[in-house]
Amino acid sequence: MTDCIFCKIASGEIPAEIVHDNDGVVVFRDLNPQAPTHLLAIPRQHIATINDLEPDHAELVGKLYLAAKAVAADEGLAERGYRTVMNCGEEAGQTVFHIHLHILGGRPMQWPPG
Ligand code: AMP
Repeated sequence: MTDCIFCKIASGEIPAEIVHDNDGVVVFRDLNPQAPTHLLAIPRQHIATINDLEPDHAELVGKLYLAAKAVAADEGLAERGYRTVMNCGEEAGQTVFHIHLHILGGRPMQWPPG
């Protein structure tokens, strides 16, 4: 999609610190980190929100989680734990309308989230 910031990161048009790029999934560091490690895993394919997922996206969504597992291990988070979050829609706090899995770690997390 031409006007999507995360599509532009995936294409290299906008710079980002990419830590993983494999099998249709790109993972990069969040510009405004909310934890010592804060990564975003996105599909190269533009999908705006969870509400736009179709059955044939199931494998791609699984790949987002497998990428999260891989980068969490790379960042030393696998054993101590980390949080994955995908916000859907404005009330949940989604600000970029290209699905992305937040991967947060390196500090204790509270529950419930705000
Ligand atoms: P959400 O609020 O769930 O839509 O998350 C969007 C996330 O994208 C926020 O945590 C932002 O800090 C992050 N973000 C926005 N623009 C960029 C960018 N150019 N590079 C890296 N992260 C970004």
